Amino acid sequence: MKNSTLIPGLMLCASLCVGSPLLQAQSVIPIPLKMEQTAGTFLLKKTTPLYTNLQGEELERLKATAEPGTVKHLKNLSKAPAGCIVLEKTETGVPQSPEGYALNVSPDKVLVQSRADAGLFYGLQTVCQLGEAKPDGSSAIAATQITDEPRFQYRGFMMDVSRHFRTKEFVKKQMDAMARFKLNRLHIHLTDGAGWRIEIKKYPQLTQFAAWRPDAVWKDWWFKENGRKYCEEGTPGAYGGYYTQEDIRELLDYAADRHITIIPEIEMPAHSEEVLAAYPELSCSGEPYKNAEFCIGNEQTFEFLENVLTEVIDLFPSEYIHIGGDEANKNPWKACPKCQQRMKDEGLKDVDELQSYAIHRMEVFLNEHGRKLLGWDEIMEGGLAPNATVMSWRGEEGGLKAVRSGHRAVMTPAEFFYLDYYQDAPISQPEAIGGYVPLEKTYSYDPVKADMTPEEAALVYGVQANQWAEYIPTDEYYEYMMYPRLLAVAEVGWSQPSRKDFADFRNRALTAVEWLNAHGYHPFPLKDEVGHRPESREPIQHLALGKPVTYNAPFNESYKAAGDKSLTDGIRGDWTYSDGRWQGFISRNRLDVTIDLGEATEIGSIGADFMQAAGPEVFLPAEVIISVSDDGQNFSELKRVTHTPSREPGFAFVNHTWTGKTTARYVRYQARSGKELGGWIFTDEIVVLPPQ
Ligand SMILES: [Zn+2]
Repeated sequence: MKNSTLIPGLMLCASLCVGSPLLQAQSVIPIPLKMEQTAGTFLLKKTTPLYTNLQGEELERLKATAEPGTVKHLKNLSKAPAGCIVLEKTETGVPQSPEGYALNVSPDKVLVQSRADAGLFYGLQTVCQLGEAKPDGSSAIAATQITDEPRFQYRGFMMDVSRHFRTKEFVKKQMDAMARFKLNRLHIHLTDGAGWRIEIKKYPQLTQFAAWRPDAVWKDWWFKENGRKYCEEGTPGAYGGYYTQEDIRELLDYAADRHITIIPEIEMPAHSEEVLAAYPELSCSGEPYKNAEFCIGNEQTFEFLENVLTEVIDLFPSEYIHIGGDEANKNPWKACPKCQQRMKDEGLKDVDELQSYAIHRMEVFLNEHGRKLLGWDEIMEGGLAPNATVMSWRGEEGGLKAVRSGHRAVMTPAEFFYLDYYQDAPISQPEAIGGYVPLEKTYSYDPVKADMTPEEAALVYGVQANQWAEYIPTDEYYEYMMYPRLLAVAEVGWSQPSRKDFADFRNRALTAVEWLNAHGYHPFPLKDEVGHRPESREPIQHLALGKPVTYNAPFNESYKAAGDKSLTDGIRGDWTYSDGRWQGFISRNRLDVTIDLGEATEIGSIGADFMQAAGPEVFLPAEVIISVSDDGQNFSELKRVTHTPSREPGFAFVNHTWTGKTTARYVRYQARSGKELGGWIFTDEIVVLPPQ
């Protein structure tokens, strides 16, 4: 990586011209706790020396990220010459947190003080962000006094390298940016059905076979008829990859130099199709390509998992090992004699408890090896392992429940922190998995709730953005989805709520996007953001507004929006079906509603919008029927539309409206899915207008 150096020399970008000193002070992300500008400027050069009292490993770590030859050890820092940066490790006059720092930029010197080298490193990142580049490569920094420390200890980013593999160079590049914005945890999702990504010496088939597949693009591989197969490494056209243990050590060194902890995730008991294709004896069926879940009744499963974790623990020094634990299909366990025997022997009353049994065993194993267990919130089902930490992704409920029962939680709710969701109007974006999480939404999150006790609030360990990669085949697109939303996560994790202001943050993010572009990243062009769906911005007036709706078929309880008032409340949905405005109907339970206008009414049009979001199986309807009636019994059809549902395009809106002139009291609107794809139908409002 060319731009790996984090110290001013290389990180201050010549093309980043922030303008006036006042604006410079506003360019720091995450926003510091206290910040005050004084008079004058300090001139920073690539060769500006760094004097520090750090020694040993800490000194070496500092040198690793600095311009070569600029770092000098000095016992008595008061002897440092003018025009230098002083990095002083001290207990006096510095914030409590080892990541906190005091920074004083004066015209003749930059002084960074902290009680730990992490704080000095973060102080330097702030210095880098304060600089205004000059044409000669130097930088002017306005004299400033800053006191800063993080709100949360855990400020994370999760990278999915299974669905599409990312090289170690790519991972390093993202760690550079993470460090600049003071993120300190990289959670790597190393294993999943789409490919195993870490060398395990004891099980070579994991990387010689389960890391490779015939199709490069996940979508092609996943939806292809007889797809979802693996192939031997070296097969012509094979797509995939993995990190050797040597690669992992290299990544860990790189992370340590940047004060980032890498947390490995080894998925269990579900999302393990790839393992069970290579080692089918570990599944309930005993056959490849049949199961995604390990057989918990089989003792060999535990032998395998413990052997894998032993190698993982030997490599990764992190306090936590993530064991996944999400989205298990527990049905095969119900039919498996071994799993049933296990339940009998252990007195487990259902398959939830069977999953919990497996997680407990893994926790005991990890604890015995001096590590802690981290898992997705499903690990709470059937009873949470005693020392486990919960990563709450299905909303916040799991995390809240965890802290209420005395467990640590990392908050990572999908509707705020899933960076694989659309960040702007989907019609203007490359295909994503669905959802709509604009920068403002991510930024608005606060993991601490008003009704938490101080003890509960203290158990909120921090926040993390998750970037799954099913729909993200390329590196460029991965960065596009990652930035600038990751910067909002950084500020949520670091800055106090009293310091947060979205309009101000957005301006700083625009500057950061320029910096990212200038340094070879591919961020979303925030300045071109389209924003919310226009229809969703204000209520619509129409003849059916507030009129009673009879559901001839029920809506789905998980996507009920405003219930039976939803389709006539005048409120239109935004870009995602999960915004509480779109109402959902699942395949057999088609949309079929009758609206009573109260009296015979002159009608000029009847219409509704439908959404397609192919990733989560939301499809445009196969058939729409619009009809009217005087008595609510006998309907006459006004319009019928048919369509063949398809996975393409990935995202779309379609409006089906009848227009003409009629008089009626009752309006009936029907829409159903196609037989082949099934899936969901979503609509937000049945709009009835008078004749023009
Ligand atoms: Zn089984």
